Parts: sequence; structure tokens; C-alpha cells
Amino acid sequence: MSTHHHPLKQPVYDPQTSFIYDDGLWAIIDQSANPSIEQVRAVLEKARQCQGLTLEETAVLLQNTHPELDEELFAVAREIKDTIYGNRIVLFAPLYVSNHCANSCSYCGFNADNHQLKRKTLNTDELRREVEILQDMGHKRILAVYGEHPRNSVKAIVDSINTMYDVKHGDGGEIRRINVNCAPMSVEDFRVLKSAAIGTYQCFQETYHKATYEKVHLKGKKKGFNYRLYAMHRAMEAGIDDVGIGVLFGLYDHRFELLAMLAHVQELEQNCGVGPHTISFPRIEPAHGSELSERPPYEVNDDCFKRIVAITRLAVPYTGLIMSTRESAAMRKELLELGVSQISAGSSTAPGGYQQAQEQQYDIEQFSLGDHRPMDEIIYELVTDSHSVPSFCTGCYRKGRTGDHFIGLAKQQFIGKFCQPNALITFREYLNDYASERTREAGNALIERELSRMSPARARNVRTCLAKTDGGERDIYL
Ligand code: SAM
Ligand code: SF4
Repeated sequence: MSTHHHPLKQPVYDPQTSFIYDDGLWAIIDQSANPSIEQVRAVLEKARQCQGLTLEETAVLLQNTHPELDEELFAVAREIKDTIYGNRIVLFAPLYVSNHCANSCSYCGFNADNHQLKRKTLNTDELRREVEILQDMGHKRILAVYGEHPRNSVKAIVDSINTMYDVKHGDGGEIRRINVNCAPMSVEDFRVLKSAAIGTYQCFQETYHKATYEKVHLKGKKKGFNYRLYAMHRAMEAGIDDVGIGVLFGLYDHRFELLAMLAHVQELEQNCGVGPHTISFPRIEPAHGSELSERPPYEVNDDCFKRIVAITRLAVPYTGLIMSTRESAAMRKELLELGVSQISAGSSTAPGGYQQAQEQQYDIEQFSLGDHRPMDEIIYELVTDSHSVPSFCTGCYRKGRTGDHFIGLAKQQFIGKFCQPNALITFREYLNDYASERTREAGNALIERELSRMSPARARNVRTCLAKTDGGERDIYL
């Protein structure tokens, strides 16, 4: 499938020591206290070159106390997003395969001490049904999520991935990329996971502050801070060159977390030869069976969250940013402009949740709109409100444009060459196969507008692919 060379360096690391130095990070934060307007503006100006920021420069933005500069920060974030990513937005659906979990993370409803939770690991039939429902919505990308439990061994995970790839429902239904969010494993197991043709391996550190980490992880394998901290080193050692990291905001000081996460990015770039493909931004949401989640110790409000996303966009302009499933529609819209490049649509966070939602679709009491708006509605809103092009593209990963190869391409701004055309082609496929009448009309108008902005040669090329798609061919990509 992949034609590219192996881009990874074999990482050299000592899992007994940490590359997160609390004192060093705090010193950087303290040294940038109360920056002047000129200092902040100088960092913003540098960020506009799309070369990223150092930890020190990032700290200046984090420590900014001049509210009037927020708008300037947001403007630079929008500019970078627009230059590098354009108006594409990649869509995916999370699929919770299992909520069995032997750990006890005090912020999570799946924690082993939550005896009220109904535990469920989807069997093959149930899993197939979930995937069919997602395919009928038009999804091509799935994020598969698993608790950490003996039931969710690497073999079970790989079996479930094979099942998901196997489902082909209706006309043109198929899953073309499965990203995986599961507990970190040994290098050996990561090799097995890689063999299942996964897209991105995702694992969030939750908090980079060791003392806090140890306070909130009460039992099970996840207790070990360093074991998790080096998860991506092991994944890369096993040849998984496409990894996603993240912080669970609300556990500790967001300034520390963001700098530490950037230190993690730098560590992976230097030691493994490739930085993370994506960064995710979950914020603690109230979860049944978790007291901490009701009152997060360092709650991040909407304004602060917007700054976090914008500053990350400036600091690592080429890394994909993923927005959590649970953000409201209004927040999604703002964060999209500020730099988020992937969002989930039509999401459920319970194993079997899509099937359940279908069964309950006439029971208004139990089915709240908002986050659970059907995919078509979200797409209609993306197209008409923010003129975004929803993309179902999975081309890069299947052409072997991953790891340092992908980042190299992005850096050369080849996104216009592959991503924008592929977004339009896969969007057309969605419009033909799954969209409502009004979404199809609005979507096709947007496609025409995008074509008129391309060079004539490229537009001609894309039109040929669109015509083939209209003729019933599927899965065309450059
Ligand atoms: N068990 C695996 C692990 O812990 O890495 C993967 C599944 S876990 C459900 C996926 C992510 O959900 C966690 O990494 C955490 O960041 C997030 N999460 C847990 N509790 C949450 C909450 N109350 N609100 C928002 N996100 C939460
Ligand atoms: Fe289990 Fe992951 Fe939830 Fe922790 S965050 S309780 S490991 S599912």
C-alpha cells in the first residue's frame, strides 16, 4: 500500500528519566510574566512566517495580559489556518468499542470504581451495526476508542479494526481510515497494532505535571507517568509514524500543559525524526461516576480555550488540530476559524450509542439535539455558515504520505496540490451518496466556487475526477 521509505529514526531514550522538567518550564513561564505590548506583537509577527514558535515565545503569548491583543492573536491564527489549510475541514466519527476499564482515572466515567456504569464491549455484530450506521451518515473515517482492560488486548483491538474495515454497507459505504485511541502498549504490541493498517495512534498524556498525574490516576497500568510519557517513542519504535497527542484541559495550569506539550513535540521531532501528526484538545466534561469531572481543579473557560487553540496554531502551524466531540456548535465554529482542522460529527461516546440513538430517535425526551445533530445538518452549517469544505479524504495515508513525508509535503504547501482537490472529490461523493437536497445544492455551489479559485489546469484535473464521481466511480483521490 505504501511506497515511501521508512522515515523514522529509532529513538534513543531512557524511560526512567523524563524530558519534562517542571522547574525549567515554570522558569520560562515566570520569565515571561507581564510582557509588554511590543513583546507580544513581536512574537505575533514572527508567527506569521509559519515557522512555529519556541517555548519562550509561546510563553509570552500565554502570559499576555493585554486583552486588546487577543483579537490580533486570533487574526494571526486565522491567517495561518487559511494559508496552510485553507477552508477544508476533515470530518470523522468516534466509535466507542469498549468501556471496560481496569484503571481508575478520577475524571473519567469509565473508571473501574464506577459500579453504576453499564459495561459493554461490542461484539462483532454490534460493532458491524455501529459501522453501518456511520457509513449511512456518510462517514469514511473512524476514531476507535477503547478502555484499558484485559478484554481490550491488542488482538481484540486488531480484530475489531478488521471488522470495521470489512463492513461495506449500502451503495459506496466503507471505512477508509481508522484512527485508534487506546491505552499505550509495548513496542511488540504496537507492531501488531500497526499491522492492522491503522491511521493515527492517539494517546493523550492528560497532564504533563507528574504530581497531578499521580493524584488523578488511582489504579491500574495508567498510574505510571513515564510509561505513558514514552508511549509515542515506543509507537514510533514499532514503525507507527502517525501519532496524536493531547492534554485533558482542566487538570492543571493550562500554561504549563501547553508548554510541556510543545516540549513533547520537540522531543519527538528531535528523537524520532517526526513530530505528532495531530494534537487534540479535550476539555473535562461532567461524567457520571466522576466527582472530579463535575468540578475540574483548573477549569478552562471558553475564552481561555480559544486562546489555547490559537496559540497552538501559531506554535506548531503544520500539526493538525482536533476538536473534541463534545464542544457546542457555536464553539466549534469559532475554533475552526482559529485553526482546528478536524472535527467529529454525529458523535456518541457510549459503546452501541449510534444504534441506541437510532432506536430513540422519536423519543425527544431522551435525545438532545445540539451535539447530536445529524451529520447532514452539521455539513450544511459548515458549508453555509463558514464556507468550509468538509473533507472525507484519506488519500495521504493510503498513498504513504505520512510521518515526516506528510509534514514535508505540508511544509512545501503541497496541500493545495493534493488536499484541496481530494477534499472536493470526496465531498462530491458525500453529496451524491448521502446529502439532503438542500445540502447537495449548497455543497455543489461551494465546489464550483472553489474550482473557480484554482489554476485552470488544476481545476480541469479536478473536474475530470468530479465527472467520474458523478458517473458512479468512488474513492478517487490524487
Ligand atoms: N483508555 C484509553 C486512555 O485512557 O488513553 C483511551 C480511552 S479514554 C476514554 C480517551 C480520552 O478520553 C482520555 O485520554 C481522556 O483525555 C478523555 N476523557 C476522559 N474523561 C473525560 C472527561 N470527563 N471529559 C472529557 N474527556 C475525557
Ligand atoms: Fe479508563 Fe481511559 Fe477512562 Fe482512564 S481515561 S478510566 S484509562 S477509559
